[in-house]
Amino acid sequence: MARVFGLSKSKLMAFRQCPRRLWLSIHEPDCVPADEVDDTALAIGNEVGVVARRGWSEGVLIAPEGPLQEALRQTEEALALRRPLFEATVQHDGMLVRADVLIPGPRGRAFDLVEVKSSASVKDYHIEDIAVQAWTFAAAGIPLKRRILQHINGRFIYPGGGCYEEVRPDGTVNGLFVQQDVTHAARSLEAEVPSWIAKARATLAGPMPETTDGCDDPYPCPYQAFCFAGGPEYPLSCLPRIRAQTIESLSGAGYQDVRDLPRGILANPVQEWVRKVTCSGRPDHRPGAAAALAALSYPRHYIDFETIQFAVPIWRGTRPYEQLPFQWSCHREDADGSLNHQDFLDLSGEDPTRAFAESLIATLGTKGAVFVYNQGFEGGVIRSLATRYPDLAGPLLALFDRMVDLLPLTREHYYHPAMKGSWSIKAVLPTIAPDLDYADLPEVQDGGAAQGAYREAIDPVTPPARRQALDQALKRYCGRDTEALVRLAAFLGRC
Ligand code: SF4
Repeated sequence: MARVFGLSKSKLMAFRQCPRRLWLSIHEPDCVPADEVDDTALAIGNEVGVVARRGWSEGVLIAPEGPLQEALRQTEEALALRRPLFEATVQHDGMLVRADVLIPGPRGRAFDLVEVKSSASVKDYHIEDIAVQAWTFAAAGIPLKRRILQHINGRFIYPGGGCYEEVRPDGTVNGLFVQQDVTHAARSLEAEVPSWIAKARATLAGPMPETTDGCDDPYPCPYQAFCFAGGPEYPLSCLPRIRAQTIESLSGAGYQDVRDLPRGILANPVQEWVRKVTCSGRPDHRPGAAAALAALSYPRHYIDFETIQFAVPIWRGTRPYEQLPFQWSCHREDADGSLNHQDFLDLSGEDPTRAFAESLIATLGTKGAVFVYNQGFEGGVIRSLATRYPDLAGPLLALFDRMVDLLPLTREHYYHPAMKGSWSIKAVLPTIAPDLDYADLPEVQDGGAAQGAYREAIDPVTPPARRQALDQALKRYCGRDTEALVRLAAFLGRC
């Protein structure tokens, strides 16, 4: 007898993204490295869920971590209470779903289903997600009235004191969440759910499906290293800003590797440069960078920021997902070539932004070039600080007159085949200063890890020794970024 595979909402959504993703998750679950599991996304989802539940003070939480049979039993019993249920769990014909919130209608009427999302808007795949749940609840004999998506309100300004919904004196509501009734859109998809389930099961019963091109839509798929291992050394995706259709048509014509492409086939001059340099196997330097740098004044400051974004704001006056700086590093270079390093990092858990701005202003002074890599990021942070602290706006905005962005300068004057189409500092650095390898840094080796380390360090339950280790790891990481800028400027100065 053929095996019938049990499914959950997340498994079915994986199938909707790519049949192979579902197949791998069941048949080859160990082919994802542990560090591909996005703990930060899980933590954010939990934080948002906890605050959302406060909206229903009478709510009953169904055993979220216990055995499945217990959750099913508790749900069955709790439905009779006619109270809001959190994590209500049902199963129909091997299809398992849990609802964030299930709200009973008045006088025994049908329930409203609320799906809580940590994003700041409704996306198309959210409708599929809620349609799967609604279909399963209805099939399990629990009638539904409305399907509601509750998501983050990007305009919410946290008033402090643990308050995530306030009525202002003018009667308007300042709340962390907004709700959108998606009943009509979800209903129009629910009839399709049985066929999705049937196709997902047929996929699981068959051989491993072919790869698709949906690897980042709607979520980055964790199986990319597995699926594309052994591919070309310089895939066509190395070409900067190449469109999916162009890759498709070049692949269709038999080209897989950038080095296969003949001269003249690429109309875009940057893509053609990358092709030419990749074929040559040697780095290319275009003159002009040294002259541009020679004109700049000393002392030269090389700066880099680390920021954090909270779906649920924790500091008064901040918004969801606002980019809030908590760390800077600065290497100062004087005309005689001497280098001096300073940094700022606040792990107290209090709002670090004012101290960040004041210390940055004091360190950068009023003279000399200020080097960044990608002015859009550092400049955006400085502008936000100037808006937030009008008394500091003068010295903060004055930094723009001294700012020098090394990213466009590098992009214009230097390319190495090993950069594989990227001018990110982490792609450029190994080609000019292999001794500054991020891989030798303890724990924090990229911006995502820095955010995770910061979250952990400000958590009151983190032991002091662990906080100290995170402090050191963050300082070494951010310091490495500005050391990299010093080396890059020196390198370009010789070009
Ligand atoms: S990496 Fe791409 S092809 Fe492979 S399973 Fe994921 S979505 Fe499918």
